Amino acid sequence: MYNLMTLLQNRFQRVYDRIHQAEQTCNRHGQVQLLAVSKTKPASMVREAWHLGQKHFGESYLQEALGKIDELNELSDIHWHFIGPIQSNKTRDISNHFDWVHSVDRLKVAQRLNDQRPEELPPLNICLQVNISEEASKSGIKLEELPSLVQSIASLPKLKLRGLMAIPAPETDIEKQREPFKKLAHLLNTLNDTFSLSMDTLSMGMTDDLEAAIAEGSTMIRIGTALFGSRFSSDKTTPTG
Ligand SMILES: *Cc1c(COP(=O)(O)O)cnc(C)c1O
Repeated sequence: MYNLMTLLQNRFQRVYDRIHQAEQTCNRHGQVQLLAVSKTKPASMVREAWHLGQKHFGESYLQEALGKIDELNELSDIHWHFIGPIQSNKTRDISNHFDWVHSVDRLKVAQRLNDQRPEELPPLNICLQVNISEEASKSGIKLEELPSLVQSIASLPKLKLRGLMAIPAPETDIEKQREPFKKLAHLLNTLNDTFSLSMDTLSMGMTDDLEAAIAEGSTMIRIGTALFGSRFSSDKTTPTG
């Protein structure tokens, strides 16, 4: 038997410590927001994390997410971020139930999210997912397509273009991890200058590379495993159901 609250509290504390340490190393104190990635984890765990003070949660699978959002709808000040692949026939549910989308990768999806955003809700916060390690992945926007897409999406009234997101190819060496993050940070600056925008979000860094991401200017790290445990069922510390 173990106490879920204590387990989560310890894991959150360890992640806060890593964030503070990384922020201090590069003089960026208090500039990094923690997005807790709760995909595959039960609503009960999200609720415990919320009680510990975590208010922003990332989800990748729409049906699963909608269940949790509904189950936890009495919690005030809870913010849902969609971070998974988007099918264009699913945009209505995303636009109706989320506050942020990090994984926009084409104009059609952005237009649908814009058109389907309910009138009474504030603009949907958007990050564009960039294919930053081009050889390793097929997901995300190609670098050469990014400027025109930014220009089109920036003008959609029910979307608020906040920045860029990337999932680089895995590397173990921190210097190697930093390269794609540096590239993404540079892209954000260039796009802001070129189109006179004020995008303020670099959604980059996960459990295994958050230090590298923070060193290169990440403003939001997306952490699953270090907070909620492994997503594989062999992890005995992860309650099911
Ligand atoms: C699952 C996921 C994460 C969390 O990854 P961890 O390595 O478990 O921290 C972050 N970002 C995206 C887009 C994900 O799908």
